[in-house]
Amino acid sequence: MTGRGVAFSGDPYTPGIGTWSYRVHSYDLELDYRIETNRLDGVARISGEAVVDLPAILLDLSKLKATKVRLDGRRLQRITQNTHTLTVRPDAPIPAGTRFELEIEYGGRPGPRRSAWGPIGWEELADGVLTASQPSGSSTWFPCNDRPGDKASYRIRLTADQDYTVVCSGTLTEQRTRSGRTTWVYDQPRPTAAYLATVQIGQYLRRTDDSGAVPVDYAFPAELEGRLRADFSPLPHMLDFFAREFGPYPFDRYGVVVTADELEIPLEAQAMAIFGANHVDGAGGSERLIAHELAHQWFGNSVGVAAWKDIWLNEGFACYAEWLWSEERGGSPAAQLAQEHYLRLRQAPQDLVIGEPGAASMFDDRVYKRGALTLHFLRAEIGDPAFFALLQAWTSEHAHSTSDTAAFVALAEEHAGHPLAAFFDAWLNHPALPSLA
Ligand SMILES: [Zn+2]
Repeated sequence: MTGRGVAFSGDPYTPGIGTWSYRVHSYDLELDYRIETNRLDGVARISGEAVVDLPAILLDLSKLKATKVRLDGRRLQRITQNTHTLTVRPDAPIPAGTRFELEIEYGGRPGPRRSAWGPIGWEELADGVLTASQPSGSSTWFPCNDRPGDKASYRIRLTADQDYTVVCSGTLTEQRTRSGRTTWVYDQPRPTAAYLATVQIGQYLRRTDDSGAVPVDYAFPAELEGRLRADFSPLPHMLDFFAREFGPYPFDRYGVVVTADELEIPLEAQAMAIFGANHVDGAGGSERLIAHELAHQWFGNSVGVAAWKDIWLNEGFACYAEWLWSEERGGSPAAQLAQEHYLRLRQAPQDLVIGEPGAASMFDDRVYKRGALTLHFLRAEIGDPAFFALLQAWTSEHAHSTSDTAAFVALAEEHAGHPLAAFFDAWLNHPALPSLA
């Protein structure tokens, strides 16, 4: 294998990105960032394992230049790089099943990479940084195997000017200031997909709310504090409610970052969600979105998809969680929201198969809404006790791993006690909306 090779390419929805030829156990990233010049210098220590005999290790790395590479402690000369891929060639192929340690020094001026879904990855804010990598933008800030099923642990150490707060995936384990610069160390031992690893930098206040079962760490611009307190006051209740319906919250803590900039949409990261200033109005205007991003911690982040074609498993569940939360809070019941969205989808073009939406349509709103409807009508079909037992079994059996639609259908049939192939086939594999008759 000299190129990426069709057999090992990461995901048909993100061609040329990621690979199945090796897997990563851990990333240890040591980063130094200069806000004023947008200069990032890093050392990535990657502990990997060959899945097949590896004549070359391909890593996703966009625009940043690798300057030195060591493999198992030995400096390698045979490295090549194009715009989005770093290729490292060992002196002899690494046999399948063998562990390896890569150390890559790299740097440059990071920025988003173009994609079918717009610019993704590292992005400069008016005064700080955001990373929004879904589905394949992590290569804009570290060399990685950027496919959703390759989950690894993370340790991120980032040094920036002391005026800034740095928030990364994981628990803050160290914070040290020297000569006007602060080093922040975050550990995320739970298996994390590259797209869910994150760095957020801004002039943020930090507050921790220890009042609920799960501590919540907030980072936000000082002027938004009042509005943020009001808008996120339901979060402890939400965490309890989802834990009751979906199973235990999958991480030790939850994080919320609110940027000073407006953002088109909020986004989920591992054990964290990121909102724009526009999502915090002090009047609960984004409660639906707060529920959606939180639900991703169970659906998408802990139970991840191995391939993007199954994205309804992330988005359908997160959307259905919004409806369950609405009912819990005394708003519209889930059944009413399902009716409304069913009628709306009946008016929309029925030309999308949510079980295989295609790359261009993977974030189409119909994947979200019809995914939620699939779950709602599954619930109607098998009854509440079986349905909620199924959700709990799904999040526990596949916790911190990946799964797919076939596994969900099989588990649903197990809980239902009868075949559901025709039900799922109608909802997931055909563009026409199933009739409710
Ligand atoms: Zn979502």
